[in-house]
This record gives sequence, structure tokens and C-alpha cells, in this order.
Amino acid sequence: MAETIFSKILRGEIPSHKVYEDDLVFAFLDINPLSPGHTLVIPKEPVATLDQLSDESSAAIGRVLPRLCRAIMRATGASEYNVLQNNGAGAHQAVFHVHFHIIPKLTDGRGLGIGWKIQTLESADAKQLVQAIVGAL
Ligand code: AMP
Repeated sequence: MAETIFSKILRGEIPSHKVYEDDLVFAFLDINPLSPGHTLVIPKEPVATLDQLSDESSAAIGRVLPRLCRAIMRATGASEYNVLQNNGAGAHQAVFHVHFHIIPKLTDGRGLGIGWKIQTLESADAKQLVQAIVGAL
């Protein structure tokens, strides 16, 4: 994977506001927060997108993510939040090192804004998709 700014943060070459670290996971405040407490949780494993992440790092992230959400909610007083994880430039990924955003959603509107353009799931398409996904697992 190409070098990213998060690799430099992990090596301590550029500063960050660290909130959590263990053998496999690192978490720090986002430098351009959508709301106070906006935090990034990253694996130390240097892969660009979630589908490339090892089971070990995935499990380590999964173990700590809810705990970090709880701590951020307690610390900020927010009671709602989004967890966002972008993969690929077209999907809004800017830093190509896997990361999860924890973004408090405040009553004044600060936080993640979502444009959610829904479609209808047709039964024939659903059957085909399920078959294709299950076959690819
Ligand atoms: P994404 O669009 O999902 O790739 O988000 C990348 C995030 O990384 C953005 O929210 C940036 O504000 C954040 N970011 C970029 N550089 C830094 C940095 N040096 N320290 C903290 N957050 C950063």
C-alpha cells in the first residue's frame, strides 16, 4: 500500500490527538471534525480498504469500536452518532488507510449529513444478488 499520512501518524512522525492505542488499533481526533469528538479509528495494519483487512485486525477494531463510541458520547454529551467507513475515492475516501469515523450527531445539526437516495428492491434482483454474494463468500 502507498504511504499515507496515517502511516506517519502511527510512526509518530506527525502529531495527532491520540485517544486510544493497543497492539493493533489506534484512534485519534479528526483534524477537520464535523462535530466535537469526531474521531478516527484505524488498524495499524496498512491496508487501503476494509475488504483487504485481516481477520485479526478486523476483530481488534470490532472489539474496541463500541467502547470508543460510548466514551465519545459520554465525553461530549451527545446521545446520537454515526459510524462512517469510506472505501474508494468515488465513495468519499480521501486517505487510503482503512479508517472508521465516529461522528457525534448534535441537536443543532452538526455531525454527518446524509443524502440517502432510496430505490426499490425487486424480488428477482434480490434473488440474483443473494446468489452472487453467497457464492462469493
Ligand atoms: P475519508 O474521507 O473517509 O478518507 O476521511 C479522511 C479523514 O481524515 C478526514 O475526515 C480528514 O479530516 C482526516 N484527516 C486527514 N489528515 C488528518 C490528520 N493529520 N489528523 C487527523 N485527521 C486527519
